[in-house]
Amino acid sequence: MKRLLSLWVATCPLVLCLGCAVDPRPDEVAQIVRDYVAKVEPLTTRVNLVYWEAATTGKPQKFEELKQVQLRIRRIQSDPNDFARIRASREPGRIRDPRLVRQGDKLYYGYLQNQIDLALMQRTVELDAKVQETYNNYRGTIDGRKVTVSDVYTIMTTESDVGKREAAWRASKEVANVIIGDLLELVRLRNQAARQLGFDNYHTMSIVTGEQSIGDLDRIFEELDRLTREPFAKLKHELDEILAKNCGISPEGLMPWHYHDPFFQRTPLVYELDLDRYYRGRDIQELVRKYYASIGLPIDDILARSDLYDREGKYPHAFSHDVNRSGDVRVLANLQDTERWMETILHELGHAVYSKYHDPREPWLLREPAHSFTTEAIAVFFGRLSRNADWMQKMLGLSEEETAKIRSVSDRYLRFQQVLFARWAMVMWHFEKALYANPDQDLNGLWWDLVEKYQLLKRPPGPADAGWASKLHFTTAPCYYHNYMLGELLASQLHKTIVHKVLKLESDAGLSYVGDERVGRYLREYVFGPGARYSWNDMIVRATGEPLTPKYFVEQFVE
Ligand SMILES: [Zn+2]
Repeated sequence: MKRLLSLWVATCPLVLCLGCAVDPRPDEVAQIVRDYVAKVEPLTTRVNLVYWEAATTGKPQKFEELKQVQLRIRRIQSDPNDFARIRASREPGRIRDPRLVRQGDKLYYGYLQNQIDLALMQRTVELDAKVQETYNNYRGTIDGRKVTVSDVYTIMTTESDVGKREAAWRASKEVANVIIGDLLELVRLRNQAARQLGFDNYHTMSIVTGEQSIGDLDRIFEELDRLTREPFAKLKHELDEILAKNCGISPEGLMPWHYHDPFFQRTPLVYELDLDRYYRGRDIQELVRKYYASIGLPIDDILARSDLYDREGKYPHAFSHDVNRSGDVRVLANLQDTERWMETILHELGHAVYSKYHDPREPWLLREPAHSFTTEAIAVFFGRLSRNADWMQKMLGLSEEETAKIRSVSDRYLRFQQVLFARWAMVMWHFEKALYANPDQDLNGLWWDLVEKYQLLKRPPGPADAGWASKLHFTTAPCYYHNYMLGELLASQLHKTIVHKVLKLESDAGLSYVGDERVGRYLREYVFGPGARYSWNDMIVRATGEPLTPKYFVEQFVE
């Protein structure tokens, strides 16, 4: 991947003319890094503090201040002279200190994305904001009556009248027709910006600046497709029988609106189990404090700085926040005594312990996760525990009988959910790649081709609709979705390593992941501590003995 990039650097005329003017020696590179950190570290801490205040209070002036400080960082990173020096320093063999090379990588990708022509960047930001605003304010309609997203979900999960289900499904896609013109324009603008920097299109640029390669990702998704195709077909066949029976139709008559979710990315809850009742009346904060301490990753300091309960004006979801890369890590949440919040807080604290336990001796630029998907993997790894029967037994003191009941249902549900998510992620990966390669092709037809191929859904009769554009990620997090899947794969690969190599067990049967400090010690040494010291795949090889592979995800959930 890096070789590919330096090839591009060598052939891009803009780069050649700037590149030959500067010739930094290693001590100069170290100086570039020092200058950058001196300017950007305080601003980054400032941004993080302002963001925290904005999210916990909802005050508009804080959001305004946030934009101003972010802009100052962006201005630094758009300096073409600094960029030329950083780029020249990346020529192979020029720097030998691997830490300095990694810091150079970080700077390079940070600057690269900000070298786009200012007017074009401005238009992109404005159009992006416009699409998001339209999206946020738009309400679909059923029989001329406006409905909310939660109305749609209620109808799609509980309604037995097929006509009403179809109407709700169509209402959820309506926003697509309103935004599709602007969204496609946004895709073209993003492509234009990427081409200014010498890439084929924006998708390719995003993957390369995310230190990934399209070839590697294609290979991972192909393998995942091969390994999940038949098991998914079998699970879906069983599901179809249940759904058809509930609606009083034959399985052949099932349409996309029968699947309880506008995109069939979540498993319909047809297997009965109310996990909430096990968490009702429990102190979720205390559970999570006890749990993390039991595996040698105490979080008392994180909890003390966190904002965990709901309040007027506060951001309604949850996130983990590393304020200064020196131990000030906090979590925002709106805790309730439900399984969903147990999962969410385990997840966010997964992110938080990753940040807290970066080795403080590493330089500031490397005190970050190896990649956004590697921290997602840790979050997912811990989040999965909220419905793990053995974990629940240990933490909640459940009886054998209750534990067995949970195990039989939650294993089946988890398995289906994981396989289904993998199939859905394949649709997103292939579609978005094609979208940026050629935004003028028959995208609506292509979407349904992929949905039929990977998710085994039937396309509705009539001309193909533009419903794909109602997926918010195409606007707000372009070319990022594959990272959710990679996070799941790595979570399983780490699980496998911990079971066999760290805890030296034959299998994960009955494994609760409670009360064993070896788990925390391993994660600190191989994952959290090094931060971004190694590129993500090198970190994974060091931590698990092999590069990222779908093998263990399949072993855990499919076989
Ligand atoms: Zn997360």
